[in-house]
Amino acid sequence: MPSLNQQILIAACLGLLIGWLVGAMPDEAAARTSVLYASTLVGSVFIGLLKMILVPLIFTSIAVGVANLQAHHQVHRVWVTTLVYFIGTLALAMLVALIAANLFKPGAGLSLTLFEDAMSTFEARQLTLPEFFQHFFANLFQNPFTAFANNSILSIVVFAIFLGVALVAGGARYGNILKVLQEFLELLMRIVGWIMRLAPLGILALLIRLVAEQDASLLTAVLGFIVLVFATTLFHGIVVLPGILWIVTRKSPLWFWRGSREAIITAFATSSSAATLPISMRCAEENLQVQRGVAGFVLPLGATMNMDGTALYEAAAALFVANLMGIELSFAQQMVVFFTAMVASTGAPGIPSAGMVTMVMVLQAVGLPAEAIAILLPIDRLLDTVRTAVNVEGDIVGSVVVQQLAGVPEQAEDLAEVQRA
Ligand code: ASP
Repeated sequence: MPSLNQQILIAACLGLLIGWLVGAMPDEAAARTSVLYASTLVGSVFIGLLKMILVPLIFTSIAVGVANLQAHHQVHRVWVTTLVYFIGTLALAMLVALIAANLFKPGAGLSLTLFEDAMSTFEARQLTLPEFFQHFFANLFQNPFTAFANNSILSIVVFAIFLGVALVAGGARYGNILKVLQEFLELLMRIVGWIMRLAPLGILALLIRLVAEQDASLLTAVLGFIVLVFATTLFHGIVVLPGILWIVTRKSPLWFWRGSREAIITAFATSSSAATLPISMRCAEENLQVQRGVAGFVLPLGATMNMDGTALYEAAAALFVANLMGIELSFAQQMVVFFTAMVASTGAPGIPSAGMVTMVMVLQAVGLPAEAIAILLPIDRLLDTVRTAVNVEGDIVGSVVVQQLAGVPEQAEDLAEVQRA
């Protein structure tokens, strides 16, 4: 029997193959309808299970993680290193996108009339930069129950950080609560282990649907752009991120891939960093020796804020739309794209096509029409695969790098010390 890791890899390849075969069948073929029905069912059960565990997992892992780190006076270093890593890798991702888009000029020479219909019927939800900030900060602090009910990950993160710091500041008298939270977290991770057994089936189902439902004629019209986005995202995921990992920790890319591929393939199939989070945490802790305190802090924060693939995509897409319109963006305008795409990717939640909503902001920042989203939407499900995989890879690399740079030992430390404090 192949290991779970191998089963996931086999399922991904099979999913792509079966999806392609099903896609080639006529629309009304009974086999096609039944395979699509079954894969929709299985896929949504798998995603549903991941979402079920997500909110309690984020809350407990951050509260316990922050309490552990705080007790060992490491929380400050972990914070700073995490933020520097997030900003640094986002900037690198966008630099890759801007250089490639300037070199290859995707969209130049394509006729805009091809898309005029789609653009004229599409009404984009306007989102200006000030509105975005207002929304972002207003959502940061919420009644935790509202946040739990609405899956507002960022406000759950904020509340959990407060609780983690308070648990340590309060000292030994809250030792019991901390112990309960820690045991609860262990229980949740046990459930994640069970959900993982379903992962091969879930991934198979999601990929069959994804491939079978692609519209080939549409894809060929913007093939140059798709190839550019795939190539640059893969460059970031295969060269830049493993390069950073090697420079900081001397760990090989192969070691990383073996330890993290369950999460990366799940991200590819689900297009959601948030849904993948339970699996990312398991991979980081069990395969890459990241301490629970660090993984529980860097990964949930990364799943909502650190999106290298999304930032890269938003920068490349803005230049693509400009080329389509026959507009040459100046260096200063490209810098505006750089900064807004960074903010936009940070604010995008880790769910499918979230980047499309914040993309409007990037387009508007340089005066491009928000309706141009209509051109990008039909190909988004496809592009979201690789960009989410790289988003998740960036978070997991981050947890290993931050652990090393912040000087946190690889082994999880005993909570006894916290209680004695
Ligand atoms: N789907 C991406 C993620 O979950 C976000 C995006 O749309 O770019 O990471």
